[in-house]
Amino acid sequence: MNDWNNEILLLKEFNNILEREKIIDLNYPTWTFVWLPYWCKIVDLNMNFLNKLFDKYGYEKYIFPFLVSSKEFDNINKKINNFEKNIYKVNNSLILRPSGESAIYPMLRRRVKSYTDLPIRVFQIWIMFRNWTSRWFLRPNENDVFIEAHSAFESKNDAENEIKKINSLVEEYFKRLWIPTLKTIRPPRTNKPVAEKEYAFDALLPTWETALLNVTYLQMQIFSKAFSILFSKKDKTKDYTYQTEFGFSQRAILTSIRLLSKKNNVFLLPNHAPIQIVIIQINLDNKKISNYTKKIFDKLIKNKFRVKIDQEWKNLYKRFSKHENKWIPLRIEIGEKELLNSSIKIVRHDNKETHLYNYKDTINWVSLMLKKIETYSYKQNNNSLKEKIIIIKDINEIAKVIKIGKIAKIHLCYNKNCVEKTQETVKIWEIIGFEEKESKLKHSCINCGKTTWYIAFYARRV
Ligand SMILES: [Zn+2]
Repeated sequence: MNDWNNEILLLKEFNNILEREKIIDLNYPTWTFVWLPYWCKIVDLNMNFLNKLFDKYGYEKYIFPFLVSSKEFDNINKKINNFEKNIYKVNNSLILRPSGESAIYPMLRRRVKSYTDLPIRVFQIWIMFRNWTSRWFLRPNENDVFIEAHSAFESKNDAENEIKKINSLVEEYFKRLWIPTLKTIRPPRTNKPVAEKEYAFDALLPTWETALLNVTYLQMQIFSKAFSILFSKKDKTKDYTYQTEFGFSQRAILTSIRLLSKKNNVFLLPNHAPIQIVIIQINLDNKKISNYTKKIFDKLIKNKFRVKIDQEWKNLYKRFSKHENKWIPLRIEIGEKELLNSSIKIVRHDNKETHLYNYKDTINWVSLMLKKIETYSYKQNNNSLKEKIIIIKDINEIAKVIKIGKIAKIHLCYNKNCVEKTQETVKIWEIIGFEEKESKLKHSCINCGKTTWYIAFYARRV
């Protein structure tokens, strides 16, 4: 059963751990906070990966201005209800960018004149300014680096094909973070649509919520028309570009960490850990053991592992717990026994499994252990995601199922009316989206009873 008190505790606990481990300083004079050096190292590792990933898919990095013209912002403001309520005005003609479009699309308008200028794929790693106060983990704000990508094409078909590539990119990224996700198509919008099709990737958090980690928009010409991004086609006629957009925030890395959190036991996945392995020398006054420890350290460094030696004169238990708090995935212990047998003792942080290996196989075993930690976490998370999804046939059961921490899977028509009517019954819980592939069998819509091929998910979204 879901326990709300426990849930609140978990979120608080997670915040406390981040503060205790000097990841974040929440005591900043304003409602916001400071990211500390250890977190910045984690983010750098993540950004290195993202830069390579974007490069692989043909996206090029740009740096767009923080200040954008209010006139350009109006082009997007007209498309989104109440957007202007959340912006920071600098003066009558300038605002701090609240999203990418008003900074990026004026450049596209100027640079895309002909079909030969297309396709264009841009991304930026940036900060966005939204005038809202929120729990930092739940909603990106100006303390959160945002990664946003836009692309423009000469045909509808090209933009549709790009969406498939983007979904692969997104899947690759979440696989890297070992976050199992639920991929859906967002429901038809009730008012101003910002895209012809929207894809969403949700993760299921340990607090029985789902977290929206990515949205991909098949904008088509909605914004190219709003921003007048017009080009000449091969046949000399003019057309507006066909566009896509998608992005991630730091919420994804935090989700990855949080999925691994168990009370006070938090650790980082090896590929995000600024320190992957700590070598603890047990008998500090033994010169031979010191040399042996150093030899192992050098070997690991040479093979590009991120390693640290601990040779502090402190209680051994305190040393162990200190490194566990630093979320180091693997520990190597070196003492008299290891020196005598030319061996290394490896302890996994995640499940405390301990192994004794031969010195000469150090690299193989360390690589294998780090890999096992990642796949083990993914398997566990993935199983828990699958277990959470329950097929519901009665509209009144949806809210009940969500209350106990599950995701309701229902048959529902893909239209505004059936989504809205279901929403009225479900009340505060939210539709996550529709399954991408239509069901193989026809079913009755949970709302209108008519035959439908579509499947939708409802859950409690952060
Ligand atoms: Zn229906």
